[in-house]
Amino acid sequence: MTIALHWFRTDLRVADNPGLAAAQASGLPVAGLYIATPAQWDMHDDAPIKRDFWRRNLYELQQSLTALGIPLLKLQVHRYDDIPVLLEKLLPVLRASELHCNLEVPINERKRDEAVATLCQQLGVRVHRHLDHLLFAPQAVMNKSGEPFKVFTPFSKTARALLLAAPVLHSVKPQHVLVLPALPQGLVTALPDFGEAQPQWEEQWPAGETHAHRRMRSFCQQRIADYKEARDLPAVDGTSTLSAYLAAGVLSIRQCWLEATRWHDGNGVFTWQNELLWHDFYKYIMWHYPHVCRHLPWKTDIGHVPWRHDKKEFQQWCEGRTGVPIVDAAMRQLLQTGWMHNRLRMITAMFLSKHLLIDWRWGERWFMQHLVDGDFAANNGGWQWSASTGTDSVPYFRIFNPVTQSQRFDTDGSFLRRLLPELAALDNKSIHDPGLLRPTNYPPPMLELAFGRERALQAFKRP
Ligand SMILES: Cc1cc2nc3c(=O)[nH]c(=O)nc-3n(C[C@H](O)[C@H](O)[C@H](O)COP(=O)(O)OP(=O)(O)OC[C@H]3O[C@@H](n4cnc5c(N)ncnc54)[C@H](O)[C@@H]3O)c2cc1C
Repeated sequence: MTIALHWFRTDLRVADNPGLAAAQASGLPVAGLYIATPAQWDMHDDAPIKRDFWRRNLYELQQSLTALGIPLLKLQVHRYDDIPVLLEKLLPVLRASELHCNLEVPINERKRDEAVATLCQQLGVRVHRHLDHLLFAPQAVMNKSGEPFKVFTPFSKTARALLLAAPVLHSVKPQHVLVLPALPQGLVTALPDFGEAQPQWEEQWPAGETHAHRRMRSFCQQRIADYKEARDLPAVDGTSTLSAYLAAGVLSIRQCWLEATRWHDGNGVFTWQNELLWHDFYKYIMWHYPHVCRHLPWKTDIGHVPWRHDKKEFQQWCEGRTGVPIVDAAMRQLLQTGWMHNRLRMITAMFLSKHLLIDWRWGERWFMQHLVDGDFAANNGGWQWSASTGTDSVPYFRIFNPVTQSQRFDTDGSFLRRLLPELAALDNKSIHDPGLLRPTNYPPPMLELAFGRERALQAFKRP
């Protein structure tokens, strides 16, 4: 008897997993496979906190699969390039006749999957790639001329029209317990190495589908109605904080879409679903314009901008020592929790790429190295938006003033006080821009904002 194998990557869940459900629908006994690739993760700057999140979710996944009679094989190689060699030996030993997986959009993942598909063809193993991370196949949402959209609003309108037929969820049933054969010596690899973990990460980002669903439900029941107003206030628990669960695939985008409509109707739901569509849009852009995976700006006419590569200034930004309170508080939030509020991601990214004119790719990399929700497409899209190099990005002359943003979105300074205790005694006005009231243990601003703004405007102007 042969088996169907589902290869888990960033889809660490049982519920609504299209690949896993399709493997079972084949009628064959199903086994799961996970292949850790630490050297590839290093190359991709995957953050230690994210790798630990993967490790803990993989453990939870294994428990759920065991309860369904589905074994999970966990192996390790160095890089994606090593995977075909491993599978060439493994698939015959497991007597796998089908290999299922969910599609991933970045270019290295696409190349990896092509190489595996070629190998499987030689071995006579049928490969099935399923749509999972996006609500629609990238080719399904096109403009009237049959071209990919380059701007979010028309993309989202077309997507919403298609979404009138609600997304369908996939389920898996228990099976007779499948026992896999023992692997021969040459196939036993090292146990997956996810790197060092810090004890607080588990508390900050609890793992598992049960927890993720609880978080999703409580947001949709209690807070989504106010999302439109609350989502911009970093001091308020106004967003879902589901991004890490979506990025690791502990939740699916379809589950979120449907859950949102279950509880309320109105501006909050519409606005939140728009954010889910931004999630789709950046993956869609990465699929259609894979050059963005190669550290290139999406815009091809932006080569004249003289990005600066000042390591000392970059370090000040990384460590939250710019002397601009909202930027420093945000950067410390990232270092302390592995997450940063969306409004603050825009403020800090724009401060780096515009006021400091430092190469946005440095910032993109720093974020990736520290985010628990690091997602290549969303991170790249967010950075290119802020640096005005991307599709549908902010016009270069609309430069956020971080002090004004701080006054507007953290008016009473509660977020600043929480993250910058050295400024806690300042009044609600001066905390945003301490000036002469600056305590001695807080640095002066690293540059005049007006100077940085003017330098950026000149730099972006065409020669
Ligand atoms: C410079 C920059 C870098 C970013 N890097 C990432 C990243 O690495 N990973 C990531 O998931 N998001 C990234 N974002 C988008 C956004 O900041 C986060 O998704 C959001 O802050 C996560 O918090 P939440 O789950 O509470 O979001 P909510 O406000 O509750 O939104 C729900 C979900 O929608 C998606 N989403 C929300 N906003 C966006 C957006 N602008 N673009 C794409 N998807 C979105 C996320 O999956 C999020 O979990 C970045 C934004 C910027 C400006």
